[in-house]
Formats: sequence, structure tokens, C-alpha cells
Amino acid sequence: MKKTVVYLLLALLAYGLPAAAANGPTVEEGVSQALAEYRSLHVDDVIYNLSFTIPERREQKLQGTAEILFKYDGDADLQLDFSGYAFPAECYINDKLHSVKWEQGHIILPRRLLVQGGNVVRLEFLPADKALNRSDDYLYTLFVPALARSVFPCFDQPDIKATFKLHLTVPQGWQTMSSDLSRPLPTYLFSFVAGRFHEATATRGGRTLRALYRESDPQKVAQLDKIFDAAALSLDWMEHYTNIRYPFSSYGFVVLPGYQFGGMEHPGAIQFLDKTIFLGNNPTPDEELKRMELIAHETAHMWFGDLVTMKWFNDVWTKEVFANFMASKIVRRQFPGIDHDLNFLKAHYVPALSTDRTDGTHAIQQPLANLKDAGLLYGNIIYHKAPIMMRKLEQLMGEEALQKGLQRYLFKYAFKNATWDDLIRTLMEEAPQADVTGFSEAWVKQKGLPTITTEVENNQLVVRQQDPYKRGLLWQQRFKVGLFYGEGQPIETLDVNMQQAEVRLPLARKPYAVIPNYDGSGYGRFVNGENSAAVEELSWQLMPTQLNRYAAVMTYYENYQLRQIKAGEFLNKMNTYLMNETNPLMASTLCSYINAVSADLGKHDHEFFEYFLYNDAVQHPLPSVRQQMMRSLSQTATSPTVVADLYKLWQQQSDPLLNERDYTRMAWHLAIVLPEQWQQIVSTQRSRLQDADQLREFDFVARACNPDWAVQKQLFRSLLEPENRSMEPWATEMLALLSCREREPMNNDMLLYGLNELLEIQRTGDIFFPTNWLDALLSAHRSQDAKRRVQTFIDISKNYPPALMNKIKQAAHPLLTRAHD
Ligand SMILES: [Zn+2]
Repeated sequence: MKKTVVYLLLALLAYGLPAAAANGPTVEEGVSQALAEYRSLHVDDVIYNLSFTIPERREQKLQGTAEILFKYDGDADLQLDFSGYAFPAECYINDKLHSVKWEQGHIILPRRLLVQGGNVVRLEFLPADKALNRSDDYLYTLFVPALARSVFPCFDQPDIKATFKLHLTVPQGWQTMSSDLSRPLPTYLFSFVAGRFHEATATRGGRTLRALYRESDPQKVAQLDKIFDAAALSLDWMEHYTNIRYPFSSYGFVVLPGYQFGGMEHPGAIQFLDKTIFLGNNPTPDEELKRMELIAHETAHMWFGDLVTMKWFNDVWTKEVFANFMASKIVRRQFPGIDHDLNFLKAHYVPALSTDRTDGTHAIQQPLANLKDAGLLYGNIIYHKAPIMMRKLEQLMGEEALQKGLQRYLFKYAFKNATWDDLIRTLMEEAPQADVTGFSEAWVKQKGLPTITTEVENNQLVVRQQDPYKRGLLWQQRFKVGLFYGEGQPIETLDVNMQQAEVRLPLARKPYAVIPNYDGSGYGRFVNGENSAAVEELSWQLMPTQLNRYAAVMTYYENYQLRQIKAGEFLNKMNTYLMNETNPLMASTLCSYINAVSADLGKHDHEFFEYFLYNDAVQHPLPSVRQQMMRSLSQTATSPTVVADLYKLWQQQSDPLLNERDYTRMAWHLAIVLPEQWQQIVSTQRSRLQDADQLREFDFVARACNPDWAVQKQLFRSLLEPENRSMEPWATEMLALLSCREREPMNNDMLLYGLNELLEIQRTGDIFFPTNWLDALLSAHRSQDAKRRVQTFIDISKNYPPALMNKIKQAAHPLLTRAHD
């Protein structure tokens, strides 16, 4: 026994664990919460002087030098994070040459070489590739949530805000843009972009706005004017709402092909995905709105996130919730033709429910022990449930009190960090009468959503909320219930204010039917009562407003999810509605519900249904509906007649509503369902493309159209190597084609390998990649065999990281809950 102890100690010494670290945080991979807390207490006034030399050729390594100045008053050795490609054997600590000790992605700075007060560390290093996103003639850094340390040595945590100085040496003719360095920034907001870009500037209201982009299509580039307008408008709106001037000195953005997010809020140098910013021909009102929301979202982050930053990434949702919440307010005036309450339901309720109804759901606020797992916190719950919660909080406190509270919060924590509890405390001061703490407990700190029933009992309307996890939680909220008394009579509404689990409201007379979530603002699973069939009919035909109808469709879909309604019944009804629909937002939701439910049909029923859908689509009077229906059909159709028609349409590119991207995706699908023509289809579509970046994407993805199973298997295996999936959207697109329904049951063999790879995907990929990977892998599957394989994986993976397992359960929900006959 003793021997072992001695060996262990020797082993520790041999690995050079510094004795002084005994009273400091453990040296471990990533950035643990303990390390972050220690450094937050003892490290201050950090300045990074960084220089990078970017070589002309992609294969060559970048070189970096850093001079890091900081104050330190701890009594343990200090860990400086660095997980780059290589570091020198030596560095200078306060002008003393020191041989670098590098453990678990940390450079250990010995206490004896550090001084109380100001320290200077100087070193040279080679950054790792991943966060540099290097292409042939450009690169962009993207560090969120915790990749800065892979590119330069730093204290990589959100609550050590530092002053940055940056010097870039770039090949001739390259443009650069970096985060605005006029103000202190956390490492995850520091970024730079360099490469061959076009540049545009604009002046709006005395501000200069700058854009870098690679797009060459003049029709798309012409949209820049609109994009600058959207940015300027968002800036003005935010200044007005927060009563704080734009906190940074410059505003610019870079539009990037194949970007892994929609956008990222580096102050003064926002990064955007090209497809969301430059729209194809005939953009739908949806797409225009989404673009505006995205620009507003990233701009709102300049205050929420960049000016005031979360203390630890467990509160990353606090910046996301305000970005989305503000974006919803900003777009309101811009699209006066749109029903924004309805749009809020569509933008947030629909995706929030899609995750919250699954076994893989989680609380808005989640624990985070180490920054290396921060990416797993992102998803529908923080992006979509959180804004719903914020609206409920606004209702609870009052609009003005919330705005005032937020102004005080931003002012108080400007250029500093704050937690959700800091915010709650500030808000409570504005609205002492509201139970903000109890509200936060149910909505923010616990998972799930209530099941809500509405019944008529003895001249009373009884509304009950139930906690599906039996914790007795109460989700405080208000919503409206509609009462229908018979045809020709107006629908009466009742306001329900759920401050208890059961609310009883007196009724003057017995209604013929109750419409549960009449205005859609109730958040939960509204289960149809006894007279549900009558309610569905009513909800549609007699609803006075679009919002009421939208809410009814949401309820109807939720009841399909609860298996209260059969797929065929749901589809027939929704299809009839869709045929008469005139509101594009409603139509788009109907299309996606129809798509989701029709995937549950067996092959024969699906083909039968799609034949009707196609005929309806081509005749639909509303262009945006026709467009959306054609888009989804062109990804899913398998019946010979519809495929033949689609083929003709694709060949002649005869539908002016469809753009180049639509035709490309249509070509990929057609190549799969018409395997004997696949080469001709792929080469024809390829010859239509001009843009070099688009051609690269096309060549990457189109390989998956090859009908040879051996080739498909080999492509799938290639995706299991991180270097072959570095362009994540392309890899996702290819995986989706390989996992398509037409290739069942062969591709069921990929399921376990794809799931097995997930830990590696999380470790090597960006934050949205695990979810996108799972969706691409699982979303087409509905078979019993696939269900069994996925269920087995879940059952045997007992010690799997819970946050990652949640992602699997979310993505597998349609497969695992499908009723198999
Ligand atoms: Zn965001």
C-alpha cells in the first residue's frame, strides 16, 4: 500500500505538479469553475499585446507573439490558458527567462517569479487551426464560448475583461477587421478577420458603418443598403430603449460563406452567415423578417453581452434572451404589415415547445463545471423559451418597470460582469410587489412546461396547471380563454391569471365549447378537453383574428404530439386550412407542421398524400405559400408522378419563385430518387453555378448523391474524421443526404456510428454542431429498426454527459415517440 503512495507522489513530481499549486486550483483540462473563480479574485488589469503573422498559404502555420500584462495577488502558481499548436520552450516572466511548463492546456507561471502588482509575460507560440477558420484566401477567428486559448495564451473566462492591442501582418491585398478594441473585452468577444474581401461603407445618422463580404452576385450586393439601414435602425432603437449610447467606437460586420452560426456579436466586427444576410431571388416575408431579426439580435448584444457580460457561461442565456427579446421589439415597426404577436408565437413558442415537450429538455439556467462544455448549453431553450419567459416577466412587472430595471442594470454593470441573480435583484427594486424570485425559480431554474386543462364545471371555468415532473411547480402566467356560445354569437374571452395551480372563474351561462389558449400567449401543453373535436372546428372557422387561429393550430399540433389526434386526420385538416391560407407566417407554420407529421406516415400513405399536396401547391394563390410548399416537396417527394413533375420543373427552372439554392437542393434530392440519372442531374446543376465558394460547397455535398452504397459508406466514414467536417454546414448537408429516408434500411447502419461520434463532435466542433449533426443523422428516420437502435444506444449509455444525452433525446423525439403499428 505504501509503495503505491510513493509511486503516486513520484509520478506527480515527475509530471512537475508544482508544490505551490497545492493551495491553488487543480490543473485540469479546460477552464474549471474553480480556476475561474480563483483568477477572478486574484488577477486584474489585464492587457494583451498580440501580434500575428498570417502566411499566404493555407497549409502554413500562423505565428504569434504575446506580451501579457496583469496584476496578481494570489499565493499559488498561476495558470495561463493555452491549447494552441505549439509554444516555445522558454518565455520571459518579468524579464527573467523561464522554461515553460505546459500541462493540460495551461502554462504554469511559478509564484516565485510573479510579483504583487504589475507582471509582464512575453512569449511566442503557434495557434491551433480550428478557431482560425482558415480558407484559401481568408480566415476569421471565432472564440465563443472558450476557444481563445487555442489561438493565444490568455485567461480565458468571461469575467476577466482585458484591454487588447492587436498587430496583424497579412499577405498583400488582404483586408482586415477586428473587434473594437477601444473598450475592455472578455476573450470570447475578441476576434479578427483577414483575407480577400470586398469592402463597403455607409453613413447613417452620423455613424460610419463598414462591411466586408465575398459575395459577387450584384443582385445580392445591392442588398447592402438595406442591411446598413437595418443596423442603423437597431442601433438607434437600442440607444433609445437603454438610454445608453452605443458603447463602442466603431460598427462593422463581415459576411462569411459557410459560417457556423447565424451571427456572432464581436463588438464593432459582427460576423454574419451569408445566406441569411444576402437573400436569393424572391425572398419570402419570412426571410426578410429573419434577416432583420438577426441584425437586430447581434446589435442588441452590443449592450446585452458586450457592455454587460455574464460572469460565467452558465448565464450565457442572459445575453441571448435580451438579444432576442430586443430583436422582437426592434422589428415591430419595420414590418408594419406583419402581426408581431403572431410572429412571436412562430419565432419562439413553436421552437421552444419543440424542445420543451421532449425528454431531453432542461432548465434555462444550467450548471456548468468547466468551460470546455459550455457549447452544450445552447439550444431552443435558451434562444426561445427564455424570450417567452422574459415576456411573462414583463407582464408580471409592467413594461415600464422592466425597462427602467434594465437601464439601471446596464448602467450599474457597464463594462463589467453580472449574474442572473444580480439582474433579478435590480428588477425587484423596480417592482417590489411582484414575486420575481418565485417566478424565476419555476421559469428559469427548473426544467419543463406545465400541462394545462380547461374544463367547465358547475357554472365555473376551471383552469388547471400540472407539473409533468410532479415537483409541484407553478408557472405564473396570464393568457386568455375563449368561450363559444353557438354560431352567429360573438366569442367571449376570459382573462386567466395563473397565480395558483387551479383557477376558477364564474360563468354566466354554459358555453357550447371552450377554446383553451385563445390568444396563444399561454405557455404549456394545452390538452383538449371532452368537446375537443368541436373546439378544433370552431377554432379555425370562427376565430376572429389570425392570432387566434395561429394559437388554435399550435394547440392542435400539441395534441397531435400527445397522440390525441391521428396523423391522417391532422394532415387532412391542416391541408384544407393551408389551401385557404392567406397569411404567409401562418402558411409557413402549416407547411412545417405538415412536413413533420407527414414524415410519420408510412411510405404508401406518404406518397398518396404528397400527390394531393403537390397539386394543391401548384394551384395555391399565394406565391409565398406555393414557394414554401414547393421547397418542402422538392426535399421529400418520392411518388413517381410528383418526382417526374419536379424533374421537369428543375430542368427548365420554370418556377420563378425558386432561387438557385432551391434548385441546388432540389437537384440533390432528385439525384437520390432518380439514381440512374444522378450524374447527369449533378453535372447539369453544377454547370449552373458561378460563385467559387458555392462550387466548392456543391462539389463537397453532391458526392452524397452517388447511388453506390460503398461510396456512401466511405463518405460517411470520412465525416467521422474531424478534418473532413471542418466546414460544418456542408458536412451537415452531406450527412442529411446520406441519412435520407430513401436509403433506409441500409443507412440505419450509420446510426450507431453517428451517435458514437457525438462526444468527438462536441469536443472538436462548434457549439451548434452537435445539434445539427444529430438532426441531420436522425430527422428522416421513422422505422421500428432505427427506433430500436437509437433506444438501445440511449439505454446502454448510462454514464453519458447529461447535457449531450439531452441533445440526443431532443433530436430523436419524433422517432422515439412515433406510434408504430
Ligand atoms: Zn446571440
